[in-house]
Amino acid sequence: MIYLDNNSTTKPFPDVIKIMTEFMISRFWNVSSAYGQLDKLEEVIESSQMAIRKLCGLSQDDKVVFTSGATESNNWAVIEGCRRTVKKGWVLSSQMEHPSVREVLEHYQKRGTDVRWLPVNRDGTIDLNKLSEIANPDLCFATFMLAHNETGVIQPLKKAITIIREQSPDCLIHTDGTQAFGKVPISFSRDLDEIDLISFSGHKFHGPKGIGGLIIRNGTKIQPLFQGGGQQFNLRSGTLNLPAIAGISVAANQCCEFLQEKKQESVQTIRDFFEESLCSNFPKSIILGRQATRLPNTSFFGISGTDADDLLYALLTKKIVINKGSACSAQSIKPSKIALLMGYSYEESSSLIRFSASQDTAINDVQFLVNSLRELCPF
Ligand code: PMP
Repeated sequence: MIYLDNNSTTKPFPDVIKIMTEFMISRFWNVSSAYGQLDKLEEVIESSQMAIRKLCGLSQDDKVVFTSGATESNNWAVIEGCRRTVKKGWVLSSQMEHPSVREVLEHYQKRGTDVRWLPVNRDGTIDLNKLSEIANPDLCFATFMLAHNETGVIQPLKKAITIIREQSPDCLIHTDGTQAFGKVPISFSRDLDEIDLISFSGHKFHGPKGIGGLIIRNGTKIQPLFQGGGQQFNLRSGTLNLPAIAGISVAANQCCEFLQEKKQESVQTIRDFFEESLCSNFPKSIILGRQATRLPNTSFFGISGTDADDLLYALLTKKIVINKGSACSAQSIKPSKIALLMGYSYEESSSLIRFSASQDTAINDVQFLVNSLRELCPF
């Protein structure tokens, strides 16, 4: 099987499975118990938090709160952001956000919160001109994703934050970092220090599913989403999922090494090889966001005159696992929303397939994909 759907989910590293098994079989204690303390479980949690901080360049004072994944973290951040508008103010996001941000905002919008949406440019970035036009001192909360799950386009957050802070220094700023973690080097402390809240998810960087987190930057105060036993600084109650916390730590450390050795450049070489082969075999193919800065593993492409669903099914018979776009919308027969927002036609948007490679993808896999496309799309 050739697996090319890594923006949906990734295969856990073998060492992740190993440590999780160890924790499930012989270290299954409740962290809060006395015997849990004897087994130094607090140290396991702290070193996992350290691994996350290292992966995305945070300082020791930034809090890493573990959640069930990015959906929960995004919901939590948006609920906090909308809560801040109760007395006065409005909220800003973009039309391309993941449903775990967008649908919560829409929920609040229906109940009277003033939510405004930035449009998307042709290259898949947020419209900064529009942002300059509308930003004002009453902006309370802004949320933009760091990298888009379908196009892989990395958003110009640094510029967006400068514009927002000039107008509204106290605005709470959140980013959904889910797709960028582990794929590209990130340093929030150095490059994006003004971001207050960051969501991430373990299964997108070869860690376990059902674990992620919300990073709460030093000095930022937010209300808990879940109340109960007071775990995790009273911010997220619930018995800690220790096997997953140990697993995500291993994944973060291995991704850190991968990025330190600049191995993402090899992933990009493979992705670029795919795009060049695609364009030379199918001159009428389209690749979304190719002009913008993108994740090195992602290519959102379409071959003119084909239908994504038919092609995906045909590729599956050749044991190539690849997807239309986000897994959340893959069940639907609707064309890609982001493509329509970027100004592509209904027909073009219906042909789109998302190629998303990983550290394990080999050039031969890509060659096999291109050969299969040539066989299946004789244009
Ligand atoms: N945000 C983005 C950009 C995503 O791609 C995803 C996963 N599809 C999520 C949030 C949700 O993550 P999780 O599966 O951890 O809930």
